[in-house]
Amino acid sequence: MFNKFIVSILPYFPEKFVWIFSRSYIAGETIDDAIRASKNLNSRKIKVTLDVLGEFISTIEEAEANKEEYLHLIEAVTKNGIDGNYSVKPTSFGLLIDKNICYNHIREITAKAASVNSFIRIDMEDSPCTDLEIELFRKLKSEFPANVGLVLQAYLRKTMNDIRNLTDLNNPETPLSIRLCKGIYVEPESVAYKKYEEINQHFLEEIEFMMRNKFHVAIATHDKHLIDESYRLIEKYSVPENMYEFQMLYGVTPHLRDTIVNDGHAMRIYVPFGKDWFGYSTRRLKENPKMASHIIKAIFYKG
Ligand SMILES: Cc1cc2nc3c(=O)[nH]c(=O)nc-3n(C[C@H](O)[C@H](O)[C@H](O)COP(=O)(O)OP(=O)(O)OC[C@H]3O[C@@H](n4cnc5c(N)ncnc54)[C@H](O)[C@@H]3O)c2cc1C
Repeated sequence: MFNKFIVSILPYFPEKFVWIFSRSYIAGETIDDAIRASKNLNSRKIKVTLDVLGEFISTIEEAEANKEEYLHLIEAVTKNGIDGNYSVKPTSFGLLIDKNICYNHIREITAKAASVNSFIRIDMEDSPCTDLEIELFRKLKSEFPANVGLVLQAYLRKTMNDIRNLTDLNNPETPLSIRLCKGIYVEPESVAYKKYEEINQHFLEEIEFMMRNKFHVAIATHDKHLIDESYRLIEKYSVPENMYEFQMLYGVTPHLRDTIVNDGHAMRIYVPFGKDWFGYSTRRLKENPKMASHIIKAIFYKG
């Protein structure tokens, strides 16, 4: 109730006030802010994946602007020697308006990343987008086998099937790179598991399947239980260092993040930034009011 109340009043507060809630989770508005945050993380032996905020655009012109921002970002990251790659949300390139235009934009970004030996990860959005995003990934992977990866969500009932269907793209030279997360959108029960235990069980089954089948696995969670179990699976399958990494969100559970780094595992932080931080924060909170309690907790932790 309290979370829902906070979420419903948040859009009526001045941006400066909402920024107090959001600044722990967002690197800032500009590419310079993102570079600064990335340098800081790199200096702690942590890689980054950079995300320009902006989803669910309403005109195709906005897609063009988002593409330009990524192209500038790739130049800045390369120039500054940042150890990082990029995450893109296809809806911010018009997936739901014109999927061919969306493909062409993401293709151009991937080509630019490939030209500097870097990598683009296709984020996974809500269920009306998931099959379109897998299709887009398949197409990109055939042209840029070493430079593109996908996200899958353990809460979706169809995910294990999707993983099995993607296995044909896996090979030792250019392994399939999948980030597995729980999934953040509110989905109907017919589409997604709802119970914590159920989601965790599928998460671990899917991580295990991918490790056994020699995918490159990005374990994206802050859940201590899943992290401990992933440690066990890494050992069980003797997964080489270059075939997995842990991933977390910027500003979330930094102590756990540092423990994983100190344990000798690769860690990559998802760093969102951009002018649309206000829309992003309020949309995220509306999608998942539980986030409000995390944000409030973060404020209290900081005193
Ligand atoms: C690198 C990365 C990329 C992601 N990409 C996608 C994507 O493409 N598509 C998608 O649908 N979802 C994505 N997500 C979000 C993901 O689906 C989950 O919603 C989110 O990670 C929370 O799940 P959890 O595994 O941490 O477990 P939870 O059970 O939600 O959280 C475990 C514990 O972590 C802490 N925690 C979790 N989130 C927060 C927070 N925001 N603030 C403070 N503490 C927190 C809490 O202590 C909580 O008890 C991504 C997550 C990560 C880490």
